[in-house]
Amino acid sequence: MFYFRKVSVNPPLPEPVQRLRELSYNLWFSWNRPARDLFGEINPRLWDQVEHNPVQFLLRIDRESLEKAAANQEYLKKYNEVMAEYDQYMHEEKWFHRTNPDYRDRTIAYFSAEFGLHESCPIYSGGLGILAGDHAKAASDLGLPFVGVGLLYKHGYFKQLINREGRQEVVYPDLNFNEMPIKPLIAESGLEITVAVEYPERTVHARVWEIKVGLVRIILLDTDLPVNSKEDRAITSQLYGGGREMRIMQELMLGAGGVRALRALGVNSRVWHINEGHSAFLTLERLREMVSDGVPYSTAREAVRSNTIFTTHTPVPAGHDVFTKELVEKYLGSLCRDNGMSCQTLIDLGWDFEHRQFNMTLLAIRMSGYCNGVSRLHGEVTRQMFHRFYPSLPVEEVPITSVTNGVHARTWIAEAWKEVFDRYLGEDWQNHVTEPAVLSRVDQIPDEVVWETHSQLKDKVIQYARDKVRANRVRNHEQLGLVAEAEDILLSHALTIGFARRYATYKRATLLFKEPDRLAALLNNLDRPAQIIFAGKSHPADQAGQELIKKILDYSREEPFRGKIVFLENYDINVARHLVHGVDVWLNTPRWPMEASGTSGMKAAMNGVLHCSVLDGWWPEAYNGKNGFAIGGPGNMHLKEADQDMNDSFYLYKCLEDKVIPLYYDRQNGIPVQWVGRMKESIKTIITRFSTTRMVSEYTDRFYVPLIDRGVAFTEAGFQVARQVDRFKRFMKENWHHVKVERTNTNGRWDMVEGEELMVESVVKLGPISSQDVVVEITLGSDRGSYICGLDSLPMELKEQVGDGIYKYVGKVPLTQGTFGYTVRVRPDQQHMVGTIELPLVRWAENF
Ligand SMILES: *Cc1c(COP(=O)(O)O)cnc(C)c1O
Repeated sequence: MFYFRKVSVNPPLPEPVQRLRELSYNLWFSWNRPARDLFGEINPRLWDQVEHNPVQFLLRIDRESLEKAAANQEYLKKYNEVMAEYDQYMHEEKWFHRTNPDYRDRTIAYFSAEFGLHESCPIYSGGLGILAGDHAKAASDLGLPFVGVGLLYKHGYFKQLINREGRQEVVYPDLNFNEMPIKPLIAESGLEITVAVEYPERTVHARVWEIKVGLVRIILLDTDLPVNSKEDRAITSQLYGGGREMRIMQELMLGAGGVRALRALGVNSRVWHINEGHSAFLTLERLREMVSDGVPYSTAREAVRSNTIFTTHTPVPAGHDVFTKELVEKYLGSLCRDNGMSCQTLIDLGWDFEHRQFNMTLLAIRMSGYCNGVSRLHGEVTRQMFHRFYPSLPVEEVPITSVTNGVHARTWIAEAWKEVFDRYLGEDWQNHVTEPAVLSRVDQIPDEVVWETHSQLKDKVIQYARDKVRANRVRNHEQLGLVAEAEDILLSHALTIGFARRYATYKRATLLFKEPDRLAALLNNLDRPAQIIFAGKSHPADQAGQELIKKILDYSREEPFRGKIVFLENYDINVARHLVHGVDVWLNTPRWPMEASGTSGMKAAMNGVLHCSVLDGWWPEAYNGKNGFAIGGPGNMHLKEADQDMNDSFYLYKCLEDKVIPLYYDRQNGIPVQWVGRMKESIKTIITRFSTTRMVSEYTDRFYVPLIDRGVAFTEAGFQVARQVDRFKRFMKENWHHVKVERTNTNGRWDMVEGEELMVESVVKLGPISSQDVVVEITLGSDRGSYICGLDSLPMELKEQVGDGIYKYVGKVPLTQGTFGYTVRVRPDQQHMVGTIELPLVRWAENF
């Protein structure tokens, strides 16, 4: 290879449409259909060819077309409207500016291995990335001082092609970053900004790129630089490609390189958000920074924790990112050696003693002040999963909470619906999506308008499916008959079910095929026909997933399913957008409780596409009996997989046969009135509660703002508070064995009368621990036979010291009707602890 420099040469933009280039470099266009149309309208064919990438579009478009557009009054009118809206968006005062005016420059850094923003930036694989992209978009809408940090993959995530045999083929695109809506960051010196990270016996350099997302930015690292060796240039080659060693190399760049990139840009981040364990090494890099500044290791650890938050997305132990000790030693070696930290100490931070491996999720949990799962159910499942690390706590107090995911409503709601909502909810509804009063106006939309809007979107998705199948068959050189047949697949009036997701086995794409005859009968009912559109990729290493795809494709080519079952290749944001806008029902059949949250159903439900799902992930929180359909009842921990599959397929058929299909075909003047009622209920309830507007404002209020304050408090005055917290924790751990609830007396009998008071008196031994540093409390909850849950704690009052390190406490509980259990416990308490159980030391009364 030889050295060369690059230059992009664009046609000059005519004066009246000068700002198209600026627009092409801000992902604001990804949630603004009229903005995208400004490109698409100039040359629709080219727009599709460049996969809706406006930067590439402007590089390819001929001068004449641009000049023609610039001379067209109608086009200019639209252009001016879009630019006015863009300017307003970029300059108006936003929620965070109003609610936290003093925090406008307190940056929140959000690290994620993938960001899914738009099909023109294929650096995401699925739900996790799109969630991160939607998070950034909402951060912009809300005016948060936010910066995303990720990797820029030269070959992105794979494109899926389906071949003649119905098998998935994998193609890694060769992305030309200079033709994407991203820019390299340039220092004042005129040179590109790079960062350097030590790897075993070498240094790896990365360039820093920026994507603008409305008001916020995402910075991305790319190691494909001539200064790196060939192997190191490939570190940011593929998302989730390669083996464990490749993964740790990537994660080191993301974590350590990401922190260094922020430093290089002069960004003083006040909150550090780890989105899934991949980026947890950022905590070690921050430790290294502080230690090399002379802060003692354990003080630094408290300081890092003080402003870090971790979100986990994995509902099964096998899903966690783990490394062997050797790999961690190899890659973290220089990080510790150069800074006087012992490598073992760092390894201990992520070490799982039971499974003898280094676990990125554990590292993130131990280094974060707050941890959360992504739905209420997932919070519960995660607390169960990590309960073994908190043996003295009841499972419900394991310090992992939840924030339920959302989707970016502006991105996912179809333009046709936006226009209807503009008319009926008020022009400014997009700034009020969490307000039930605004969304309740959906009820005022006439049924005919709802049905007409949906029917148009449905026609569009059916045509889109036909075009896509046709293009696939042409590419595969199928017989002409088969190519022509693509025009006739799917019926415009049939109930259309969408099923699009990654083909991981737990998602059970083929549950519907458990009884093929029954499914065939259902689809082929002449009066009430139904059809299914499938899409989804399977990870190249997942053979089972690929078999599922093959199986569906085989069905789609045979009677009795031909033309009624369709598989669309290369599920991405564009395919998803069409499907969630236009099918009638969105089907979701994960094996409970493996779907941490799921988000595609939210996108569908906001468009009035009824969600039909197992009560897993987010759905138990949302389903109210009227806004979609539930397959079966609440999940059951104790069922074997095969039994669960049997049960769920039974309920799935029942649900479709008895509820979905009859309701869909129950018409008055051609309109399925009850169905439309459910659509309205779905739109209302899902938009108000499952947008990223709600999600990000929840993260802000519950975590970001408190963490900003904690970060300052812990580090100011020479890390005084961090030091104090560290000393406190160590003292407690060393002396906790002295603590004992010696004796408890109570007036409690097994039957008491409402209005009576339960008096409790305990003698507690604290030994060398001060009574100031503990809480003694009565803990009570619902009686479940062998345990109590729904815990509530009432602090007891220190009555007197009765001996050396021995104290008497008293407390009382007003009694309300019902049965409950109660006990007494002691736990450490200090003003800087997060929540009640930051230090998981609890001593329970033994017997009274
Ligand atoms: C929303 C989305 C996902 C995530 O959907 P799940 O409900 O988690 O399966 C995956 N891929 C694409 C392209 C999406 O748009």
